[in-house]
Amino acid sequence: MAIRVLALDLERTLISDANNANPRPGLSEFLAFCLARFERVVLFTTVEEADARSALDHLVECGHVPAELVDPLGYVPWVGEHKDLAFIVGAAPEEVLFVDDDAGWIRPDQRDRWVAIEPWDGGADRELVRVQHVLAERLAIDNRV
Ligand SMILES: [Mg+2]
Repeated sequence: MAIRVLALDLERTLISDANNANPRPGLSEFLAFCLARFERVVLFTTVEEADARSALDHLVECGHVPAELVDPLGYVPWVGEHKDLAFIVGAAPEEVLFVDDDAGWIRPDQRDRWVAIEPWDGGADRELVRVQHVLAERLAIDNRV
C-alpha cells in the first residue's frame, strides 16, 4: 500500500515540551517537506489537543513557524498503552509512517511504520534534517516514485 499519512509526535520530536514550546532546529523546513509530500500530516501525541494547539500557536506568534505550516496539521484522538495507528481515521496502518522519539509508545506489530528520532530538549540538532531524508527514502521505496 502507498504511504499517504504522516503521524508526528510532538514533545521531544518537534518541540521541547508543550509548556515551553521551543522549536526544534529546522522545524519549519521539516513541516514544509511533510505537508508537501504526504496527503495528510497528523499529530499523535500524549498532549491534549487544546494544549498541543496552543503550543503550536505560540510558535506562530513568536515567528518560529508560519501559520500555513501549522493550520493543516490534524490531531489523532486516542487512548491506551500504545499509539496504535488504527486510531488514525481514514487510513490503514500500512499507509502511515510515524515519527516518534519514544519506542515505548510503538505497537510491537507496527514497528515497521515507525521512524525513530532522537529526543530533543534544546540545543543544536540535525535530527529533523536526517529524518526528512529517511522519510523521502521510505516514500521512494514504498510509493515507487
Ligand atoms: Mg515524544
